[in-house]
Amino acid sequence: MALNLIMLGPPGAGKGTQAERFARTRGIPKISTGDILRESVQAGTALGQRAKAVMDRGELVSDEIMIGIVKERLDRDDARSGFVLDGFPRTVRQAEALDEIMAARDPLIIVDMVVPHAELVRRLASRMVCADCGANGVPGELECRRCTGKLVQRTDDNDAVVIERLRVYNTSTKPVLDFYRMRPTFRSINGAQPPDRVMADLNAAIEAAGAPVTPRGVRP
Ligand code: AMP
Repeated sequence: MALNLIMLGPPGAGKGTQAERFARTRGIPKISTGDILRESVQAGTALGQRAKAVMDRGELVSDEIMIGIVKERLDRDDARSGFVLDGFPRTVRQAEALDEIMAARDPLIIVDMVVPHAELVRRLASRMVCADCGANGVPGELECRRCTGKLVQRTDDNDAVVIERLRVYNTSTKPVLDFYRMRPTFRSINGAQPPDRVMADLNAAIEAAGAPVTPRGVRP
């Protein structure tokens, strides 16, 4: 059975960090729509040029574009044995489209990371990321531990844009929780803990949702 995981939660909840670690230990791809868009911006593609202004305002890129990107990505061979989706779906329309894409595949496991508003604002204001590889930086350091690139603030992590992103989350993305909440494979975890504790809770939630916990996707 493939482990098809989606990570939900507001900006700053730690979805990217947890998704990255989880995907690495299971040997499945992490698919982050924010990363895909930022790569397009850096590469200067037509998509990147259109997406940049929207992202810098903290708004959402259109459902049509996002659904196309995710459909194409999930249809690739490496996603057949499972994936961790980070940053998608962000609207009910995206969630409905994802159900269609997944129609003949193993069920989605949905994990919602819950973090109080004040903690999100604090985290986003102090978050530093690597200008070269996009990894999260360690607070207080100047260089990326992974590639020694320079740590910078994300252009959409400044105060005004953070407020807008959290507002957009509340109006457009929160309804996605209600879309999934009644499914037997839906779980909530407390994201306001140290990363190792969150990872332990994530593993437990996935096991409870029906997928065995084994490294690198090996089934017992
Ligand atoms: P993230 O890195 O997930 O916080 O995403 C950064 C920005 O990319 C968001 O603020 C949106 O502008 C855009 N974005 C990422 N994923 C989506 C999505 N599923 N739907 C619409 N816009 C998205």
